[in-house]
Amino acid sequence: MKYISTRAASGASAERKSFCEILLEGLAPDGGLYLPESYPRVDDAMLAKWRDVYNKQGYAALAFEVLSLYIDDIPAVDLKAICAKTYTEAVFGTREIVPLKKLQDGLLLEALSNGPTLAFKDMAMQLLGNLFEYELARRGEELNILGATSGDTGSAAEYAMRGKKGVRVFMTSPYGRMSPFQQAQMFSLMDENIHNIAVDGVFDDCQDMVKAVSNDLDFKRKYKIGTVNSINWARLMAQVVYYFAGYFQATQANTEKVSFTVPSGNFGNVCAGHVARMMGLPIDRLVVATNENDVLDEFFRTGVYRVRGSADTHETSSPSMDISKASNFERFVFDLLGRDGARVKALFGDALGKEGRFDLSADPAFMQAATRYGFVSGKSTHTDRLGTIKNTFEKFGVMIDTHTADAVKVAREYLKPGMTMIVLETALPIKFAATIVEALGREPDRPAKFLGIEDLPKRVTRMAADADAIKAYIAQHCA
Ligand SMILES: *Cc1c(COP(=O)(O)O)cnc(C)c1O
Repeated sequence: MKYISTRAASGASAERKSFCEILLEGLAPDGGLYLPESYPRVDDAMLAKWRDVYNKQGYAALAFEVLSLYIDDIPAVDLKAICAKTYTEAVFGTREIVPLKKLQDGLLLEALSNGPTLAFKDMAMQLLGNLFEYELARRGEELNILGATSGDTGSAAEYAMRGKKGVRVFMTSPYGRMSPFQQAQMFSLMDENIHNIAVDGVFDDCQDMVKAVSNDLDFKRKYKIGTVNSINWARLMAQVVYYFAGYFQATQANTEKVSFTVPSGNFGNVCAGHVARMMGLPIDRLVVATNENDVLDEFFRTGVYRVRGSADTHETSSPSMDISKASNFERFVFDLLGRDGARVKALFGDALGKEGRFDLSADPAFMQAATRYGFVSGKSTHTDRLGTIKNTFEKFGVMIDTHTADAVKVAREYLKPGMTMIVLETALPIKFAATIVEALGREPDRPAKFLGIEDLPKRVTRMAADADAIKAYIAQHCA
């Protein structure tokens, strides 16, 4: 299996890379995103075999089956061991790893948020941590991960990389802006290789610091600075597995189809659903649910993709979906346009840069987003969110978080008789307690292992919003 950039010229001249070459890379050098040069097809016999593997041997064994179609430069025994080490009942809480919860006939939740940080990002990040450690050891290299977080990504990265050899994490976050629970989750980590940096400023200041460091190419090279952001192909690939696991739990036979609704921000999660569908998983619809930041809903309704400025990006009560542009969307558009890298480059490299938008409404390919690829969309607001959390709790006795609520709201608009709808649950309510209290008038349930974490000692360095300050800090801690 080889990987190409979404902006590569088609034909023999395109550069083709293997999995471990792109594992530690971010964007492709031409600014595009990596994708496999074709999707492996899963036929009926193979799907039947995988159903059996999941039911009898469990999630880790299924993950190995899926991943081995995409990774041919890690020996099978090693890849199997990495999967087995990653997807354990001890880490994810259940034997199924991603159990289904029924809300009503035909409407199910797939629980993706029982990992260490209680958000679905653990599903991919835990694997990434083990893949990084393996590949760095094999190369005899080190990596310093530098990132900015307003919550979920940073904590998932830290819990995935803690104690890993060859990796350090330097994670900036805006001082005093994360919820007490999120701060406690991150700052209570005492591992030597994890560095929490609370910046005097807002999230954008953190991101600016990270960009400034990444733009200093000498520094970046000298200190082996890398990232773990959502455009990393390995994260997307890891997410493909739970679409299969959800399908096997919801169906008895491969003649059945299901639909998925996905709370979406950067389009990473639902893009994994697209990949699963391209591989042959019998998915009817992929429903993209957005919050007030409706860049994606606008595209699927109108064919116009219009990125927002920071002034037009809303701060909402489903904050992990507060995006101004959807960084993984380019992958889907590449497929939609028949894998025409030159056109993707013109749209994402040129038009978006100059005009902040492009318009595919008149392009026949746009129709195919729904007809051929199954994509539809919808949007949810703060009022919808409160109503959905309340209604779901009162009717079904299930407490859902704000992001999952956005998806449940939109999923209801696409229910069809005889077609099971699976909503991906992307976080647990405890992470967003204030909105739960607003909706239900009571505190959310808290898993036992998180009782009293706010009282644990904290390990965090406070810093001015200054790129030189963080460079000095990194240099000092890489000695
Ligand atoms: C990151 C995140 C999302 C958005 O996922 P994308 O892959 O960016 O579309 C949704 N919900 C929660 C809780 C998240 O942490």
